[in-house]
Amino acid sequence: MTRFDPTELIHHPYQAPAGFAAPQLGVYKASTVMFPNVAALRQRDWRFKDGYTYGLHGTPTTFALEERIATLEGGSQCVLVPSGLAAVALVDLALLSPGDEVLLPDNVYGPSLELARTDLARWGITHRLYDPLDAAGLAALVTPNTKLLWLEAAGSVTMEFPDLAGLVQAARAAGVTTAIDNTWGAGIALRPFELGIDIVMQALTKFPSGGGDVLMGSVTTRSAALHERIKLAHMHLGYGVAGNDAELLLRSLPSLALRYHAHDATARALAEWLATRPEISRVLHPALPGCPGHAYWRAQCTAAAGLFSVMVDERYSQAQVDAFVDALRLFKIGYSWAGPVSLAVPYDLSGMRGGRPPYPGTLVRLAIGLESEAALRADLVQALRALD
Ligand SMILES: *Cc1c(COP(=O)(O)O)cnc(C)c1O
Repeated sequence: MTRFDPTELIHHPYQAPAGFAAPQLGVYKASTVMFPNVAALRQRDWRFKDGYTYGLHGTPTTFALEERIATLEGGSQCVLVPSGLAAVALVDLALLSPGDEVLLPDNVYGPSLELARTDLARWGITHRLYDPLDAAGLAALVTPNTKLLWLEAAGSVTMEFPDLAGLVQAARAAGVTTAIDNTWGAGIALRPFELGIDIVMQALTKFPSGGGDVLMGSVTTRSAALHERIKLAHMHLGYGVAGNDAELLLRSLPSLALRYHAHDATARALAEWLATRPEISRVLHPALPGCPGHAYWRAQCTAAAGLFSVMVDERYSQAQVDAFVDALRLFKIGYSWAGPVSLAVPYDLSGMRGGRPPYPGTLVRLAIGLESEAALRADLVQALRALD
């Protein structure tokens, strides 16, 4: 018998016809990308999307996703990274040098502050916290070393909505580049470039994925010069995303707006109802009057994410609040949000908002999934009994 030669499987002559048309793009995966000849290899410039160099620098699947995220955000160029936090780090590393200072809101996403406190500090980059509701106070914090202002709307966990227009105006007047963590707005509730923000970062892990099963981040720009700085840092750091993950995002994006509004409607109904409950002293949802920054939310947003926090009244101990969270059945205990499953997490406020916890009681963050409002409300009703 002749021995099968695998070469013909590796160099197979069959070429599928071009022009395959279907609702979803194919998934392209590669480390190696092949060039027709040496001249083509030498001519390729890996900075641009007019061809392919190496899997890390893009495939048809990741290029298509980058273009769609740029469209979603209203920007011109986008780069993909393996997580939302990697997107924050990429912006910091691309724009900051030793001696520079970055300003962070005092309700910034925790790991972003942790990066500033540890590695950025080690590289001689300082940070300062600012009050996102006090745009007038920002100018006093800016020095010649201030190179980057991070914005986040709404803020993490305590959900205050910043005066974006005022903060951006103050930063622009001082010549400081602005970047927003737009994970909450997801390209739906808020149009950051229309407010004059320079860089829009998003954890695609949340709404654009919507499945609770993909980690990815994006950094979108309108300015070609800013994009080039970010793209170069992206390449130097070796950031890339997997084709199958990009495919999941491409499949989820068409339903993004529908899902966003569904999460929003259920969350707002539950937030309004929780505000009437005697066990809850405060509901922190930017679309509810009385939430700090509500007027800025109303002026700048057309929707809200399905994410809010409640302050359980201070007459209940931490152990009682933990028992309430443990008693939830449909709400699962876990980080992240914007997937189908509702989630609850109790947070310790003591290290937040620059060490000045602003609200008495115990904070529980609720991420509303896609279950029915009635089922989630019934779950909260039965779990609240665990407080007594
Ligand atoms: C989740 C989240 C991130 C980080 O995203 P990962 O993909 O989990 O790293 C950053 N910012 C905000 C506001 C987030 O909610």
